[in-house]
Amino acid sequence: MSETNKEKPADSRDVRIVLVNPSHPGNVGAAARAMKTMAVNQLVLVGPRDYPDPRAVWRAAGAKDLLDAAKVVATLDEAIADCDLIIGTSARERRIPWPLVDARECANKVYEEPASSKIAILFGREDSGLNNEELHRCHLHVHVPTCEAYSSLNLSMAVQILSYELRMRSLQGANSAAAIADQAPDEWDEPFANADDIERFHSHLSETLVDLEFFDPAQPKQLLTRLRRLFARVRLDQMELNILRGILAAVQEKVNKNK
Ligand code: SAH
Repeated sequence: MSETNKEKPADSRDVRIVLVNPSHPGNVGAAARAMKTMAVNQLVLVGPRDYPDPRAVWRAAGAKDLLDAAKVVATLDEAIADCDLIIGTSARERRIPWPLVDARECANKVYEEPASSKIAILFGREDSGLNNEELHRCHLHVHVPTCEAYSSLNLSMAVQILSYELRMRSLQGANSAAAIADQAPDEWDEPFANADDIERFHSHLSETLVDLEFFDPAQPKQLLTRLRRLFARVRLDQMELNILRGILAAVQEKVNKNK
């Protein structure tokens, strides 16, 4: 291999690709192949239909090792509980706008994370994508700007595009000293709250709002979704989350005493 062709060491981040209820095993295999070519190696399958299946192995071709190492779990919670940044992909824009980026900007966001951060990129079902509840678990949404008349990419092709952009960003990081200096994540004094902590916080928050009679579960409107979006934008760290949980507990105590 000549010097110019030699692969330079790529920078990397701890990224897992999560396929939520994929129905065609061929797509799972093709996604594994798409990932391996781009050095994105962690695949998680949430309740895959018809899996394992020889069609997945055929389509994975030389990426069978990645398929063999794929983690199969029953729920999205299990797939992302320990993750610090959750990114959801979508073929269309949703009713409540969420922080939205394209695939290139998504790769930038991933590389702005501290190297220790665990990141999940979620992909939806072939027929219906990710549902709203799943999308509302995400800090960020990614839409590949396909044409409006037909915006839906094949699942494995969407994985290919996102993985390609991660690869490009990783090579850029490794190839230029300036880029490395540039991308050194700001030192934050506390670790970010992970998906599991955030879920507990949202349950506590909605419970407290019910106690306060500020929130009526019979008429939910968009209140909880808007609060989810607010906290996804803020990106709570563990200390901030503990403070808020302490405040909620104090509010609950007062309210329940007065009842
Ligand atoms: N009919 C579904 C399409 C699902 S395509 C819908 O309207 O949501 C299966 C998955 O591929 C999507 O859930 C998403 O993860 C990914 N995908 C397809 N097209 C995409 C696009 N233009 N941008 C980002 N992800 C896309």
